[in-house]
Amino acid sequence: MYKSVIIGTGPAGLTAAIYLARANLKPLVIEGPEPGGQLTTTTEVENFPGFPDGIMGPELMDNMRKQAERFGAEFRTGWVNSIDMAERPFKIQVEGQDEIVSETVIISTGASAKYLGIPGEQENVGYGVSTCATCDGFFFRGKEIIVIGGGDSALEEATFLTRFASKVTLVHRREELRASKIMQDRARDNEKIEWALNRTPVEILAGENGSGVKGLKVLNNATGEEEIIEASGVFVAIGHNPNTAFLGGQLTTDANGYIVVNPGTSETNVPGVFACGDVQDTRYRQAITAAGSGCKAAMDTERFIESLEHSAVTN
Ligand code: NAP
Repeated sequence: MYKSVIIGTGPAGLTAAIYLARANLKPLVIEGPEPGGQLTTTTEVENFPGFPDGIMGPELMDNMRKQAERFGAEFRTGWVNSIDMAERPFKIQVEGQDEIVSETVIISTGASAKYLGIPGEQENVGYGVSTCATCDGFFFRGKEIIVIGGGDSALEEATFLTRFASKVTLVHRREELRASKIMQDRARDNEKIEWALNRTPVEILAGENGSGVKGLKVLNNATGEEEIIEASGVFVAIGHNPNTAFLGGQLTTDANGYIVVNPGTSETNVPGVFACGDVQDTRYRQAITAAGSGCKAAMDTERFIESLEHSAVTN
């Protein structure tokens, strides 16, 4: 039986692994289909403290993994189908593997950015197509950018990107925006933002031989005509899906599926189950905030295990 199992290997899960391994709790870390999480799909990370010249996302994650291994964290690859949280120890079912039993569990399965699924999108991720303005906006200094979506994320990203871009065109498939009024007002007051509403994205257009993105083909829903909007970057901001389906409703989540933790902690509604990183974060979603929350989850886990051991001694 393990004392702690960590599910997910983004910055949150790996930071939790470093802390728990250093505390000699020998955590088992289960890596899913995207080891390293969303950072492995970005190129250069320039805002993670400690790297004055930046670091490539995959290298940063590889370093974190090595750091956890150095202190004794055990890694296993697999798809977690379910966790039985009815009683402790918890029972974790990994596809095609024996059942894993653990006193505590840390859920750090992250959230996946939604993509449009149109031609030209996946092949240009990291080369002009991005789902993270904070990560990649800097690379589009003085250039024209497109942001796709009509919710708070899209308007927030569009507004943020005007710091770098010469022009940001917001493309949304309907005339009405879903975003809150305050976000709409802020964006409408911004002279660098142009509006391409009631337009459905059809294809992201790239230049020859990997020379990057050159624009977006859209369908004008009012006229039925196809149009091309030129830009060097396309930011897809149509929401995220927290990876919580495998929990089978045993943890309290918000309406969008994000795990709800006790404020300021990593504690879920099930004692001994903790959550960190984007799977419980609807607000910040940064590598450094995920890492910080992973540290909190490890410390909450340590305290929980200590309290179990203490009550075993005194009973
Ligand atoms: P969201 O509210 O679900 O909005 C997603 C947007 O993307 C919608 O406008 C939707 O269009 C569009 N969209 C979805 N699928 C699409 C597709 N296949 N093709 C074209 N467009 C598509 O997601 P979000 O903006 O990420 O916000 C999620 C939650 O986080 C919300 O509760 C939001 O308030 C919150 N949030 C808050 C802040 C803040 O307060 N600072 C910042 C960001 C997010 P339709 O409108 O036509 O459906």
